[in-house]
Amino acid sequence: MAAVQELMLLLQQIRPCVDSLDRRKWSSGTAGLFTVKSAYICLQNKYGMAEIELAKVQALQQLWLNNVPPKVNIFGWRLLLEKLPTREALYRKGIITSNHERCCVFCFKEKEDVQHAFFQL
Ligand SMILES: [Zn+2]
Repeated sequence: MAAVQELMLLLQQIRPCVDSLDRRKWSSGTAGLFTVKSAYICLQNKYGMAEIELAKVQALQQLWLNNVPPKVNIFGWRLLLEKLPTREALYRKGIITSNHERCCVFCFKEKEDVQHAFFQL
């Protein structure tokens, strides 16, 4: 319902011009052109996405400058942002439902999250 109201509000502001051709315009960009950066900033402002620590941002920027295969870059990116499918992540998403299955398969003591699997073993 909120999305419909937002759409109606946007449509009310549009005044069709008979004399000019239709064209697409990205309203969140400064020049009316779409860029991934402007979409990212728009979503970040709209949904209040969590800020990423400065150290992680710097590490991510360095990560993309390395001359390694893309799959290594993507793995590092997912590791830094803690987006790997660890048992704890699968549990939080409801894919694993048993509390017992959250445990690390190597030590069976701790829950298996990125910190434990990559930095504590
Ligand atoms: Zn363990």
